[in-house]
Amino acid sequence: MSQKTSRRDEPDRYDVPARRASYTLIHKLIAEGVLRPVIRPSSEKDDPIKGIRAIATYAFKPGTDIQATDPHHLLINDKLIKADLYKLPSHAYTGLVSNSPAFSELPGVSELFEVVRRTSCSPQDVAVLLTNVAHQSMQPDQVARLVTPSQQFTASWEPEHTLVHHTGKSDFFVTLQFTVQFRPLFQALHREPIAIDVGLRPLTTLLHQSDSHRQFYTTPLTLPDHRNLSPSARRLYDRLIYASGRQDCERVVAYLVKNASVVIAEKLRLDDMDRSYVEKSRARAIQDHHYAALSQYLNAARIPLNRLPAGYTSSECPECRHVARANRAGKQFRCCRCGHTDNAHIVACRNLLHRWQRTQRRVA
Ligand SMILES: [Zn+2]
Repeated sequence: MSQKTSRRDEPDRYDVPARRASYTLIHKLIAEGVLRPVIRPSSEKDDPIKGIRAIATYAFKPGTDIQATDPHHLLINDKLIKADLYKLPSHAYTGLVSNSPAFSELPGVSELFEVVRRTSCSPQDVAVLLTNVAHQSMQPDQVARLVTPSQQFTASWEPEHTLVHHTGKSDFFVTLQFTVQFRPLFQALHREPIAIDVGLRPLTTLLHQSDSHRQFYTTPLTLPDHRNLSPSARRLYDRLIYASGRQDCERVVAYLVKNASVVIAEKLRLDDMDRSYVEKSRARAIQDHHYAALSQYLNAARIPLNRLPAGYTSSECPECRHVARANRAGKQFRCCRCGHTDNAHIVACRNLLHRWQRTQRRVA
């Protein structure tokens, strides 16, 4: 095992939505001068704050006391701001909790998560358990729950660099900053370029340059109908679905960090079918992961991520290069010209690899 650690110059930043109920308090913090406007360059290229484009960005006055009190709240001096802290990637959430001494959590939430991710319970039993856990009061518990512990990625939260963004839609987002360390568990012996196709079903299709492939699926969940739940049970329900989607995505990250020398991906394509409430919530976790977490994980592991522009990756024939929408029918690819057939997700990966190799040749 290599003990070499790599520390990056750029910190990782993750945005979580603040809740509407706290907007008045945020305006108060701005009025009191606890939140101060940050001047950002108009060009995205020169902006050190990547990600969110906002109509106004605020930083905290030096000396402001900022800590997380539970998965849904940041305590700023004496004001409790509601924000979806539980949507941070596992390592970042763990760093946040370990730097928040007054953190509390619902007792039994980890056990509930295990039950939901097993198929041996009935939805009715899960409803009872979920309601019981959700209706307890939070107890002091400075342990990050519902996350995948990582030996490779550790993040330290830097509360003094917290930012608040006011976006054009008049919503507020909180950006939390972390210093991330990566300690590889595996030697970089057999790494190779890997193309990925991300969606809902399957969650991810991976194709190695050597042509071996693999598909990851989301873990099926046992859940009751969300419409019959109390507001607090519903809030926990949303958190469980999000955590499960994140855990599934982080399995893919672990695989890539072990096996990829470079990752090639395109814009996220979520299957455009009517989706259930659970699938919509899960899609949010996958989306956050694909656009915010994946690139920062890979960057910490020093694995380049190449995002290629989307276009015809699943309708172009990898054999004869004929492009036609009719080449693809759902999960099946069948070329109208040469008859080549394959799984449509694998075809998309094959085309991504091909395009990436072409750009490499151009560079060389
Ligand atoms: Zn063909």
